[in-house]
Amino acid sequence: MAPESDFDRDLIEGVRTFVEKEVKPVANELEHANEYPQALVDRMKELGLFGATIPEAYGGLALSVSTYARIVEELCRGWMSLSGVLNTHLMIAYTIRTYGNEEQKQRFLPAMARGEKRAAFGLTEAHAGSDAQRIRTVAKRQGDQYIVNGTKMWSTNARTGTMFGLVCKTDPTANPPHKGITLLLAEKGAPGCTISRDLPKLGYKGVESAEVAFEDFPVPVANRVGNEGEGFQYVMAGLEVGRVNIAARAVGVAQAAFEDALKYSTERETFGKPICEHQAIQLKLADMATKIEAARLLVRNAAAAKDRGERSDLEAGMAKLFASEICQEVALEAMRIHGGYGYSQEFNVERYYRDAPLMIIGEGTNEIQRIVIARGLLKRAGYVRPKHVRDD
Ligand SMILES: Cc1cc2nc3c(=O)[nH]c(=O)nc-3n(C[C@H](O)[C@H](O)[C@H](O)COP(=O)(O)OP(=O)(O)OC[C@H]3O[C@@H](n4cnc5c(N)ncnc54)[C@H](O)[C@@H]3O)c2cc1C
Repeated sequence: MAPESDFDRDLIEGVRTFVEKEVKPVANELEHANEYPQALVDRMKELGLFGATIPEAYGGLALSVSTYARIVEELCRGWMSLSGVLNTHLMIAYTIRTYGNEEQKQRFLPAMARGEKRAAFGLTEAHAGSDAQRIRTVAKRQGDQYIVNGTKMWSTNARTGTMFGLVCKTDPTANPPHKGITLLLAEKGAPGCTISRDLPKLGYKGVESAEVAFEDFPVPVANRVGNEGEGFQYVMAGLEVGRVNIAARAVGVAQAAFEDALKYSTERETFGKPICEHQAIQLKLADMATKIEAARLLVRNAAAAKDRGERSDLEAGMAKLFASEICQEVALEAMRIHGGYGYSQEFNVERYYRDAPLMIIGEGTNEIQRIVIARGLLKRAGYVRPKHVRDD
């Protein structure tokens, strides 16, 4: 793991203080009002978080993935929706700095680091989530522009953001289909991009996830990341960071649930003593804390692999799978420890319980993670797929 600098430590501490003093007191209110947290987003800009992993040369903080994961965990201890404001933005910034050309880096990254340009991610479509190669949004080249037609689903930050990392087919007939996929940086402004609706959600409130229709929407060829037909591989590399971030989110939500449950167990009395004195509750607390610690170590392991520049789909997949599953378990246990009050909107635990399932679904469902992990294990063991075996 990259050693943590004084700067990193101070920043993590600064984010923790921000969460304790400014986020926790208002999170439940904003959540239940489903209100975009503009004041908190402005504070995150001041803290430099929109440039967290953007290189210093482009105005960012140049944090390692390891430190970024710590920050995501801290934010999610307060309110998971806040990290949602950052994550697709930084994932798209990652693809620009890794696969973009110098002109694109100069044009996008400093403004993204300042939070002036804000990126949403447009991959999923109504009929294509896990099976992302089947997207139907088409970008047809006309001179120095691509003309985009199609509809994206679940695009988080689509309304409040200024641009999309937009995944399109430039060759819909390509076989295999991923070879026809290209990543475009689509900035709002021209006619032809409509936020059709915000999808109503179980949790993850305050930050919007929207359906976006593109109709003859022009994107300059100069905004194509890398080469035509290579977009899918850029997106998959970006999703490795995305999965570390989702896993870190899960650790943060689970940690919040645990802390609330521990505190409540020392305050609530039944049968003449605090409930933390009942062994049944102690066993729950022990299991919760142990699972969280294990998940945290998996996140750090995956982040460190990415920081070393290694392909880390296996590590990121394991961290995402484990952390999201235990987050759901821990959130439920926290609710049980709160008894009836855990079911009330007056306590935070019901929010953790509603937020937790997103980590099981987002950035590749846990069923898909298991497939990714198994394939990674087989590959590292030297297994070569026979030619006649096809994906189902
Ligand atoms: C709140 C929220 C925010 C989101 N934000 C974004 C965003 O910003 N940008 C974006 O592009 N997308 C976003 N998504 C979309 C998300 O990434 C997809 O929902 C997810 O990838 C799953 O796709 P799907 O919903 O189409 O499910 P499907 O792919 O239809 O899967 C349905 C079920 O089948 C299972 N399944 C599918 N294929 C297989 C297989 N081969 N083997 C075994 N099981 C399988 C899945 O695991 C799942 O259980 C968001 C989703 C949510 C809920």
